Amino acid sequence: MLYKHTATELSTMLKAKKITAVELINDIFDRIEKTESKLGSFTLLKKESALEEAKKVDEKIARGEELLPLEGIPVAIKDNMVSKGDLTTSASKILANYEGIYDATVVKRLKEAGAIIIAKTNMDEFAMGSTTKSSYIQESKNPWDLERTPGGSSGGAASSVGGYQVTLSLGSDTGGSIRQPAAFCGIVGLKPTYGRVSRYGLMAFASSLDQIGPMGRSVEDVAALFNVIGGYDEMDATSMELEMPDFTANLDGNIKGMKIGIPKEYFIDGLNPKIKKVTEDAIENFKKLGAEIVPISLPNTEFAPATYYIIAPAEASSNLARFDGVRYGYRAGSYNGIEDMYIKTRSEGFGPEVKRRIMIGTYVLSAGYYDAYYKKAQKVRRLIKNDFEKAFNEVDVILTPATPGTSFKLTDKKTPVELYLEDIFTIPANLSGIPGLVIPAGKVDNLPVGIQLLGKAFDEATILKAGDAYEKAYTKMEIPEFEASVNKVRDIKKSVK
Ligand code: GLN
Repeated sequence: MLYKHTATELSTMLKAKKITAVELINDIFDRIEKTESKLGSFTLLKKESALEEAKKVDEKIARGEELLPLEGIPVAIKDNMVSKGDLTTSASKILANYEGIYDATVVKRLKEAGAIIIAKTNMDEFAMGSTTKSSYIQESKNPWDLERTPGGSSGGAASSVGGYQVTLSLGSDTGGSIRQPAAFCGIVGLKPTYGRVSRYGLMAFASSLDQIGPMGRSVEDVAALFNVIGGYDEMDATSMELEMPDFTANLDGNIKGMKIGIPKEYFIDGLNPKIKKVTEDAIENFKKLGAEIVPISLPNTEFAPATYYIIAPAEASSNLARFDGVRYGYRAGSYNGIEDMYIKTRSEGFGPEVKRRIMIGTYVLSAGYYDAYYKKAQKVRRLIKNDFEKAFNEVDVILTPATPGTSFKLTDKKTPVELYLEDIFTIPANLSGIPGLVIPAGKVDNLPVGIQLLGKAFDEATILKAGDAYEKAYTKMEIPEFEASVNKVRDIKKSVK
């Protein structure tokens, strides 16, 4: 039952020699074997190497050496982060057999910190989506209702942590892909400030928006993982050379006098009234904790989805040009000359959502439409950023609902545009580069609901402090009761279509 604990608790137990790292990893894999055929969280399991790493941690403990905060703690990483010698597929057919030849900076830092990478997690193909249904490998399920989506694109990262298959995970967030699945699965997820976490080794979706971030079952755990992965990296030209404070240090529960802004534009018609109620209750709770609630306005919010769905596909169409059948991954079986090879490889290798984005992207970047769409979108992006800058002159934190609704059924037929509009509350943070933290705030119809705390650029410390104070006072983590299957976990490598 070690899988039930947070990283902070497990680290204390390891240090006190109450448990060994090998026991912990074995317990985690027992849990995975009982649950994975239900949840489908993973694209690759690394039990052997995880046990080897665990042995090394135990040897270190036996030698009486001090452990680092995440040493021996199991972590899963989203399958768009390159790790040496591991399949790294971005859940795409075009990379179905691609093995990483180096470690992404976040992977390198996890290893240096002694964290144990136990698995790679399922996702929407190239992180494009909100359901994890566009994965080439499998569907993932929401641990609170197996007929529903865990969200996306970091769906496997969220279902694995929310389903208690792993203690911590890393997701990536371009328009909400850490925060929306965290909300849907009842866990904590942080999208750091753009430039805070190195993108070196993260397979690029939209380079000006992508950020890697931590997911866990407590704010403190998320802060501890953030401590390890964040900070300047010379391998990423957009990485900021700024000090990384210890983000676990000021989680003291004291938010008296903190100014929390409530933007009226986030309480729109499309917001599920029950989620609205949960958010309003959360606002009341923050008041009880001594925060000062300030009504604010972010007038350009309604333009965020349209702006994002021009900029993100534009960048994606450029980033995905590298997948041409020459340099990496899949190549069509038969073709007539190089042009035909490109066309067939990309037609067969990419799924429909990725193709849709490439087509939108090349269209908005084409000579005749560049000014009307791409350039205009960049201008609106600036207006959205200005809204936040103005608001943060008055408040320390902005509180919003995380999503307009709860997790939806995997069989729900939503059009692409309907899905895009659901991202309205998460996208503005990516367009502005600011950090966003989602924490669980309650349940609606037995499904988790999250609230979002937005902060000033590089001030993750304040939103983590606010989230932690809220969690300590009002959140009770529960284990979802999905029926545990005794089926052995399938051989993931062999089952790739
Ligand atoms: N749902 C958004 C999209 O489909 C966000 C994805 C992401 O953050 N990676 O683009």
